[in-house]
Amino acid sequence: MKKTAKKVTKRAATPAAKSAETPTETPTGKPTGKKAAPAAKKTTAAKKTTAAKKAAPAKKAAPSKSAAEKSAPAKKAAVTRKVKPADVVLPADTAVKADAAGKKAASVKKITVRPPGGESPTALVRRARRINRELAEVYPYAHPELDFENPFQLLVATVLSAQTTDLRVNQTTPALFARYPTPEDLAAADPEEVEQILRPCGFFRAKTRSVIGLSKSLVENFGGEVPGRLEDLVTLPGVGRKTAFVVLGNAYGRPGITVDTHFQRLVRRWRWTDETDPDKIEAAVGALFPKSEWTDLSHHVIWHGRRICHARKPACGACPIAPLCPAYGEGETDPEKARKLLKYEKGGFPGQRLNPPQAYLDAGGKPAPPLGAA
Ligand code: SF4
Repeated sequence: MKKTAKKVTKRAATPAAKSAETPTETPTGKPTGKKAAPAAKKTTAAKKTTAAKKAAPAKKAAPSKSAAEKSAPAKKAAVTRKVKPADVVLPADTAVKADAAGKKAASVKKITVRPPGGESPTALVRRARRINRELAEVYPYAHPELDFENPFQLLVATVLSAQTTDLRVNQTTPALFARYPTPEDLAAADPEEVEQILRPCGFFRAKTRSVIGLSKSLVENFGGEVPGRLEDLVTLPGVGRKTAFVVLGNAYGRPGITVDTHFQRLVRRWRWTDETDPDKIEAAVGALFPKSEWTDLSHHVIWHGRRICHARKPACGACPIAPLCPAYGEGETDPEKARKLLKYEKGGFPGQRLNPPQAYLDAGGKPAPPLGAA
């Protein structure tokens, strides 16, 4: 175990040896419908084997390959994959404010990659994609951490998740959806009854207004169905771009980047962008990846933020992407101490979902307890 620790520390402490792609400056810094398809892909036998291997943080923190060996595939990719970041095209709706509600999505426009450090745009694209590939191996079972069975449940759960944990939402929504299973039911609900159910989520009065309001709008304007278009979703009360992309990406299989607090923190630590406005972060990061990867990328980044790269004390000494991270050292670098900071399945604890996907359970993940359980 000690050998492991030394390896990670050594690799990360010699940034020049990490990879030609890694900058050397000090950093400035849910299982339904179409989502089931990528999840199914990940649960192939080969992936399961990888998942089992990667699930143990100690193993990931103790890669058998040297830094030089690790960087070999990246160099190969640099030769065989032509990356033209400046030509990356994003839909215009990823670069505009939510005031686009009701307007038609404009035609596509180009977003130029602008690295915040001295890295070239091409090197940044390659490094960013490599981090995402590594995270895909660390979290092959990554998924939305809200329990839901249909787009309506995901929409409501996402609205409720503001200012609280997904765990608390998952512990609250079973009672809500048992009492009000459809938009019609919730639209006609007595607000006081709903408030009592939502009380554990915090801000329960405002959240009650939002979920009843959005249910009324679904009934009145969308035939009781959750719309599958960004410009329609953001017209619903309490629904912004972040919530809309969660629904589009996970209930409708339409790619979207979810810029939550974890995503904002990590992409700045990795120097993917120095933007602070969520819409600009979304556009800047979107320019680094093919659109088809946006939803899974969001899961990978958010999962890493929740488990390893915490806000106050990132577990750098147990971080599998330490050699690629310009912010290595911002947190605990001692491998033993860092391992104690790991959360959820990486720390051997229950996850946030009461009903997680099978791939998560297969990888050793545990379901969350219901509300009130010890
Ligand atoms: S835990 Fe440390 S090394 Fe890992 S991504 Fe976060 S800041 Fe970088």
